[in-house]
Amino acid sequence: MREIILIKLGEMVLKGLNRKGFDSVLRKNIARRLKAAGRFDIREAQSTIYITPAEGEAADMDAACGIISKIFGLASFTRACEVEKDLSAIMAASETYLGAELSQAATFKVECKRSDKRFPLKSPEICAQVGGFLLSKFHGLKVDVENPDFTVYVEIRDFAAYVHGTALRGAGGIPVGTGGKACVLISGGIDSPVAAWMMAKRGVELTAVHFASPPYTSERAEQKAVDLLRRVGRYAGSMTMYTVPFAKIQEEIKEKCPQDIYTVIMRRFMMKAAQAIALKEGCSALVTGESLGQVASQTIQAIACTNAAAGIPVLRPLIGMDKIDIINIANKIDTYELSILPYEDCCTIFTPKHPRTRPVLKYVLKAEEALDCGVLLEDCLSHVKTTKIYPDV
Ligand code: ATP
Ligand code: MG
Repeated sequence: MREIILIKLGEMVLKGLNRKGFDSVLRKNIARRLKAAGRFDIREAQSTIYITPAEGEAADMDAACGIISKIFGLASFTRACEVEKDLSAIMAASETYLGAELSQAATFKVECKRSDKRFPLKSPEICAQVGGFLLSKFHGLKVDVENPDFTVYVEIRDFAAYVHGTALRGAGGIPVGTGGKACVLISGGIDSPVAAWMMAKRGVELTAVHFASPPYTSERAEQKAVDLLRRVGRYAGSMTMYTVPFAKIQEEIKEKCPQDIYTVIMRRFMMKAAQAIALKEGCSALVTGESLGQVASQTIQAIACTNAAAGIPVLRPLIGMDKIDIINIANKIDTYELSILPYEDCCTIFTPKHPRTRPVLKYVLKAEEALDCGVLLEDCLSHVKTTKIYPDV
């Protein structure tokens, strides 16, 4: 008897001809991410992935489950006890392996899936036998097939039988790496890590760009972006973060452009710089945490002006979401507490008192003529720093 993890695949089973490619990316993601929890053998059969601790290895199953719960492309997963395909072995395993849960429950049922049709008993017979055996072992326990406190699952598969309790929900989505590459603009705020997480959930591999404005912003502010990305990396995997020095551009804008459109012009520079990095990195889109109407620079007119600076698509997964819903996700993915740490942000430092909420592109372009945009951009891009980001668990 040994413990393994059984994983059921998610939405990707619908992907028809692409299925093979999805499978192999997912397998690689699982293998890469599980290294942090020990050595495991990974194999797939019948829409199920079997994660088995490598022979003679002390693998950390709790850590492995924690990692697996954050890998996109999985519908559900469960720890299971692997036994011989033999009824008495199955009975013994259901008593010992699920004993703690069964002694807590007042009612239970047994469900069986027999994919190996050579097994001599049919599913209803296995359920009846295992159920009867457990009733004799756990006094006071009753059968309730409609609404049991606990369900014992028995699966008779190709190489062995498996006994387990209720499976946990996986992270859903599709495997990171099957949805192309995009470059996320990551600030230290609440929104952009959530936007990054949402795109990773749709299979997008991420590169990150962070605009830092030393000496106006501190190293702690940049470190906050790194820490946030490491949290997102629990789901999105490793990535590279490009830190772009932005103070000089901001100073120039402040000196030479009308105050009420500072922010829009600054955001247009962000788009251009991020796009240059994105293209170099093979990304086909940018990602931001903008949400319509949240601040002056996120009105539809301001977004139109910002968007006009980018030649590649700008994905804004939060565009129609309320702040409270964004915060709920931030809490779920454990970025919220980090996001609300009060470090200065490059945007807030140069925020005008009365930003124009309906900027007009024609006037914004006119105002930009006062700047040497090409030189400013080239200058900041030639001082970019790269940091490799690894998941923090
Ligand atoms: P967030 O909570 O993500 O900071 P926000 O509501 O504060 O968002 P803005 O400051 O207007 O909104 O920024 C909108 C988006 O622009 C952010 O979600 C992010 O994608 C990008 N952005 C803002 N500041 C930076 C920065 N310093 N570096 C990189 N991207 C940034
Ligand atoms: Mg912000």
